[in-house]
Amino acid sequence: MGKLLNGGLAVGGTLLAFGALKRALNPRPRYAPWEKPRYEDFEKRVCIVGGGFGGYSAATKLTELTNGREDVGVLVIARDNFFTFWPMVPGIVSSDIDSRNVAQPLRRALITAGASFRRAKLKEIDHENQRIVTDGGLDFPYDQLVISLGGQPNFFGIPGVEEHALHMRGVEDAEHIRNRVIERFEEVSLMRGEVPESKLTFVVIGGGATGTEVASEIHTLVHEALAPDYPNIDPNRVRIFLLEGLPQILPELDPSLQRAARTRLFNEHIEVMTSTFAEEVTEDQVRLKGGDVIHSENVIWTAGNRPNVAIHDLGLPVDERNGIKVDEYLRVEGFPGIWAIGDCAAIRDIREGFEGRYVPPTAQAAGQEGYTVAKNILATLDGREDELEKFAYKPLGQLVELGSDFAVNEVMGVRFSGLAAAIFWRLAYLVRLNSPQSKIRIAADWISALFVRPAVTQVRGTSQE
Ligand SMILES: Cc1cc2nc3c(=O)[nH]c(=O)nc-3n(C[C@H](O)[C@H](O)[C@H](O)COP(=O)(O)OP(=O)(O)OC[C@H]3O[C@@H](n4cnc5c(N)ncnc54)[C@H](O)[C@@H]3O)c2cc1C
Repeated sequence: MGKLLNGGLAVGGTLLAFGALKRALNPRPRYAPWEKPRYEDFEKRVCIVGGGFGGYSAATKLTELTNGREDVGVLVIARDNFFTFWPMVPGIVSSDIDSRNVAQPLRRALITAGASFRRAKLKEIDHENQRIVTDGGLDFPYDQLVISLGGQPNFFGIPGVEEHALHMRGVEDAEHIRNRVIERFEEVSLMRGEVPESKLTFVVIGGGATGTEVASEIHTLVHEALAPDYPNIDPNRVRIFLLEGLPQILPELDPSLQRAARTRLFNEHIEVMTSTFAEEVTEDQVRLKGGDVIHSENVIWTAGNRPNVAIHDLGLPVDERNGIKVDEYLRVEGFPGIWAIGDCAAIRDIREGFEGRYVPPTAQAAGQEGYTVAKNILATLDGREDELEKFAYKPLGQLVELGSDFAVNEVMGVRFSGLAAAIFWRLAYLVRLNSPQSKIRIAADWISALFVRPAVTQVRGTSQE
């Protein structure tokens, strides 16, 4: 009898725990479908354009702050219906991370939080009627408007870059890079005789965090995933160059971490060239300032970003290099009720010692700006303008992963590198992912990679034959 009771309690406890876990992973939406007023019908309407780090954090903070209130409606409008978790995008190149886990469903998260979502592209702002106009000619009203359109690559007018180089500004770009490497391996495995050097030479231009991670991911792809499947290609024939115009790669990191990263890249036979400028990119070569040439049909540009050019059509004041001009409260200068954050906004860094500089275009900064703008918008809607907060950027550090077993990290002044840093990188970003599905799948992939050698395929449509 006692055994039966214990068994029953164990089964009941397991079922309860299972139910609690399921509820925690699937929070109920704030509104049931029949409860939620249309966005247009809310008394105070906040429209957020852009569903990236800035826009998403602004929307979720605002819904959190207005939980229990029925007067504030939040609408997010974005070109894509997914949220790109940028720090993990380079991992797609080696297939360490699956694209669908990096492109997280935006609708689910926003609807659960109590906001509305429409996938549309912003075209212009009808300032007079306080409406935004999207590509299909639809318009949406706002009382407060947040612009967070992100950035795009900047090619600085260098001949051939836009035409011949791959870039790294989205999930699909990372997939293109992976497919390019696989494509070259397929081509070379069919070649008889001399293989041109340019086929298996990969040149990453830009030695910031993205470029350095991409170079390392290409190395991982070649040596861990492709080498066993292409026994007729010596992986050591593959040359990977990382070009940087400054005297050091990863310029925003401490010199001790720069050295650790350089040593890692050296051990991976990645050829780092600093104080080196690409002057022209053609179909099969990169011409460097000074006349040297690298023969490569595979160039990846990560050397520059700029604010999204769409901001020029909005009738707002724009600083060409840094984005929409805002004051220290993130209000667009001269346009009450309009705010700008993230990579498309020129936000002055008000920290001591940073006078005259702008807040860097990072996910961290965009997320913090989203929180500040949410609080300031609510204060404005409630007539508490005297409570507006100035935006003060608080950098928490930087994490750069170079392969699955090595990273260089600086977290709140503490610097560390190696395997422990790589584990920290993984845990820190796993926690920060929004989608529980992505968290579970990525963790499962990482665990399985400890036991099973990674395998990649290049999915091609017949139209590409
Ligand atoms: C490969 C890569 C790796 C990175 N890694 C890191 C990192 O590890 N750590 C870090 O701090 N930062 C990192 N960054 C920088 C970081 O991603 C950006 O600073 C951050 O995403 C900026 O947030 P945002 O909201 O301004 O733009 P985004 O996050 O890019 O979001 C822009 C949003 O605007 C939408 N949009 C664009 N145009 C339109 C339009 N016309 N109409 C409607 N919607 C539009 C998009 O769909 C998207 O929802 C990385 C960047 C890249 C490219």
